[in-house]
Amino acid sequence: MQLTKEQFIRDFKDTLHEEQLIKVPAATPTEIFATLAKLVRKYYTDTWIDRNRKLSENQEKIAYYFSIEFLPGRMLETNLLNLGILDLVKEAFADLDVDFNAVKNAEHDMALGNGGLGRLAAAFMDSLATTGYPGFGNGLRYKYGLFKQRIVDGYQVELPDSWFGSTGNVWEIRKDHDVVDVKLFGDVQLQANEEGRIIPVYKNAQVLRAVPYDVPQIGFKNGVINNLRLWDVEIPEEYELNYPTIADRRRVQDITATLYPDDSSYEGKELRLIQEYFMTSAGLQTIIKSYLKLGRPLETIYEKVSVHINDTHPAVAPAEFMRLLIDDYGLSWDKAWEATVKTMSYTNHTILSEALEKWDANLFKTVLPRVYQIVLEIDSRFVAEMTQNNVATDIIENTRIVKDNQIHMANLAIIGGHSVNGVAKLHTELLKEDTLRDFYTLYPDKFNNKTNGIVQRRWTQIAAPELSEAIDATIGTGWRRDIHELQKLNDFADDKAVLDQFYQVKKEAKAKLAAYILETTGIEVSTDAIFDVQVKRLHAYKRQLLNVLHIIKLYWDLKDNPDKDMVPRVFIFGAKAAPGYHFAKSVIKLINELANLINNDASLQGKLKVVFLENYNVSLAELIIPAADVSEQISLASKEASGTSNMKFMMTGAITLATLDGANIEIKDEVGDDNIVIFGMDKDAVYHHYEAHDYYSRGVYENNPVIKRVVDTFVNGTIPNAQSEGSEIYESLIAYNDEYFLLEDFPSYVAAQEYIDALYRDKEKWARMSLLNIANSDKFTSDDTITAYAEEIWNLRK
Ligand SMILES: *Cc1c(COP(=O)(O)O)cnc(C)c1O
Repeated sequence: MQLTKEQFIRDFKDTLHEEQLIKVPAATPTEIFATLAKLVRKYYTDTWIDRNRKLSENQEKIAYYFSIEFLPGRMLETNLLNLGILDLVKEAFADLDVDFNAVKNAEHDMALGNGGLGRLAAAFMDSLATTGYPGFGNGLRYKYGLFKQRIVDGYQVELPDSWFGSTGNVWEIRKDHDVVDVKLFGDVQLQANEEGRIIPVYKNAQVLRAVPYDVPQIGFKNGVINNLRLWDVEIPEEYELNYPTIADRRRVQDITATLYPDDSSYEGKELRLIQEYFMTSAGLQTIIKSYLKLGRPLETIYEKVSVHINDTHPAVAPAEFMRLLIDDYGLSWDKAWEATVKTMSYTNHTILSEALEKWDANLFKTVLPRVYQIVLEIDSRFVAEMTQNNVATDIIENTRIVKDNQIHMANLAIIGGHSVNGVAKLHTELLKEDTLRDFYTLYPDKFNNKTNGIVQRRWTQIAAPELSEAIDATIGTGWRRDIHELQKLNDFADDKAVLDQFYQVKKEAKAKLAAYILETTGIEVSTDAIFDVQVKRLHAYKRQLLNVLHIIKLYWDLKDNPDKDMVPRVFIFGAKAAPGYHFAKSVIKLINELANLINNDASLQGKLKVVFLENYNVSLAELIIPAADVSEQISLASKEASGTSNMKFMMTGAITLATLDGANIEIKDEVGDDNIVIFGMDKDAVYHHYEAHDYYSRGVYENNPVIKRVVDTFVNGTIPNAQSEGSEIYESLIAYNDEYFLLEDFPSYVAAQEYIDALYRDKEKWARMSLLNIANSDKFTSDDTITAYAEEIWNLRK
């Protein structure tokens, strides 16, 4: 956009006077932030209106990305960057003597997601706008996002995340114009109307109002603004007599009060089902309404609309779409079904069976009586069709939607749509040959892979400004627009001056993180140490505990031999555990007590430090990731669908220490075997154990003295203040046969860590590896991932 610094300063001062009745020197960072956001909104409003007008004038096809989670983090800097005025604003603030960083930090993270799944959805919103495709988001406007984590006495304590703060969400616009009603509960009877058509008659249904709030998604310097629509719930005035008490009203507000703080297991809670249906129904209703304004026939809605189901949470969509097309708009079953299948597509995010949603049929019927009837009908037509096609009965049983008194949501998403994709090559292969094998035999053409990606702009230009300048100095600034230009860095892999510059940049990032660590935890760490980082949700399959086992081994090595020759190491963790996930919380407690033990033991001479940073979120990731030397991606092979933090680390020059899992495999393919450190079983070895039932962790423990000593450390009093957590972890490894094969992978993990130690001593070699990682990370831009979705699944035009 066209704007001079002088004009901006005038606009800013005027806005500050009007909005806050104060002048710059007196204003707090929060007041400045709120004012700046107001002004920025003013700058882009016309573009936003224009975009919507043009899309409907040109009758462009629009994809709607339905997701129960969006995890954008802070929006201010990204919005300024994408509008092309970030540098200008920073310079203007410098002139005004305003600390830009303080203003930026005044914004609360928008944390309407748990981890990778929500972050991916947010990345896709940015990339859709940046690539120029008409793609809109559809989700929920939670009043409280993912809980705020505090560590008290080594334990995780969860506090509400009141992210609206004093400013509210400065980016959103309430759209009363587009409210719709959503019906829940009650009884439904089918009756013929005057024209003889069978229609449902609802009795005693609860009617709720869905109110949309739109959050602009600004493309990178291209004048495109898309829409992320978040739904909130209200009580319609005409029904207010049904809610005479405050408690009655609260029960309604609960629907959008909080995000479920678990991303890895399914909970059969009524409130969750209501959340899922509420956002899906509201979204689909408005989509149909705006489509009909184009004056086109409903049965070919798929020509102008795609609906994407991100994981199973919005998987009620095919049934709800059928309900709307048939009940509200009078389409025949067959026409509605064709339109539905051609409109819907689905992304699977996990092979963990405990995460696949299955609703109890009675609960589903109680909450969504009419949708339940439609699900039954879809199911019985599916079974009839498959039987007619002579499909084997066990395959039909495995793939049908309703069985054992449960509704299988993934099955509904697959049958009711035309595309199913996994999120990394290995993950898609596993879906085809294992998790969704029977579906693959029925519908091979529906299956495709779309490896996840990251918004490179956030992880380089915003999170790593010094690195970005070093890249500019080496290959020019073209990479900021076309990330594939990063490949030019390959030509500098043997340029000592360049390698040295990148090494220094990493040092600076480490110094920033070291300052934060000191300030927030009191722990002093040296930037000469290897910063070895594992940040991600805490889950058994991600194997933070394997990392802990290795730390304990190093501890004993140093206790035995204080002169052990090792490069000093700082192990840095960041992780939230789901509040009900006992084991994960015990691992957090254990890491913190181990950190106390190690950090306060002078005999270790500072060679080993352990840091747990509380409240891991997007903003903290932006500080931590560019400062990492080693990226820990050590999930049990086959369990991590893709991972995306692995990509962020690679792009900012960390060396990946990884199993052959998820997108780690594709990182290895890009960077080459010499520039990544791989260890542990591959997926075939893991599956071999599953088939042979031949793993016996107690045997490994008893026969390997190093492992025995490390594991015994959990229960022999070495780690103070963690007795019960220590026993729980010990039991998981020995009595419960070590579900994620930590002990089996331990020796090769230790060897890989020793290799890292050796590599790091050769500064030049390390810097070369680091540079080559950055140079080959362009493959993981979500701009390309979303382009593949747009072209291969949604059939969109730019
Ligand atoms: C990228 C990201 C994740 C995903 O991390 P994985 O290691 O891929 O599980 C989770 N949380 C935050 C805040 C992130 O930025």
